[in-house]
Amino acid sequence: MGVSLFRLGILFAVVYFFGNIFCGWVCHKGAVQEFLYRESFAIRVPKTLDNILKKARYFFLFLIIFYPIIKGHRIFNKMDPFKVLFNLEGTTVLVIFLGILLFSSIFIYRPFCRYVCPLGALLGIISKIGLFDIKLKKPEKCIHKNICERKCPAQTLTMKEAPVINKEYCFSCLECERRCPMHCLDCDKLF
Ligand code: SF4
Ligand code: SF4
Repeated sequence: MGVSLFRLGILFAVVYFFGNIFCGWVCHKGAVQEFLYRESFAIRVPKTLDNILKKARYFFLFLIIFYPIIKGHRIFNKMDPFKVLFNLEGTTVLVIFLGILLFSSIFIYRPFCRYVCPLGALLGIISKIGLFDIKLKKPEKCIHKNICERKCPAQTLTMKEAPVINKEYCFSCLECERRCPMHCLDCDKLF
C-alpha cells in the first residue's frame, strides 16, 4: 500500500478523533465507487449476507500482515483490482474483478470498501474505538420512521430508541444526519 508508518500514525489519529473521514472523503478508490453509486437503483444487501461479507475484509487484512512474514513477499499488491484502473497494470483476472466491482458499485454502495479493503478494515477498528459518534441530539423531535437507517448507504446504522452505529463500517459520510427531515441527529464533533 506504500503508506509509511508515520503517515499511518497520523491517519490513525485523525480517524480516532474524527471518524473514518479518510474512507468517507479522501480515498480515490472510495471516490470511484461513490461516483458510480446510484441511490435510485440501490440494492440493500440482506443483513445476514452483509454481515458475513463484511468479515472478508479481515481475511484480506490478515493476508496483508502475515503473508509477507510467512512467504517473504507482499500479496495484496497483486490482488488489488484498482491497480488496473490507476496503474494500468494487472492480470486478466484482476480486470474481470475490477469490472464486476465497478458494475456492482452502481447498485451496491462501495462493495470494495465494505467487503474487501484491508486498509478500510484497519481504519474501521480505529474508528470503532474512536471518539466520533452520531447521537440523537433532539429525541423529542424524532418521528421514529427510521429514515436515517434507510438512508445510511453503508447499512451500518440501526435505529432503535436512538441510532446505533456500527462504527467499524461507518464512512463518516453524515448522510444520516443530513437526510433526517427533523434534523434531530448530530455527530459528536471535535471541530
Ligand atoms: S475502504 Fe479502502 S478503498 Fe474504501 S475508501 Fe477506505 S481505504 Fe479507500
Ligand atoms: S449515513 Fe451515518 S451511520 Fe451511515 S455511514 Fe454515513 S455517517 Fe455513518
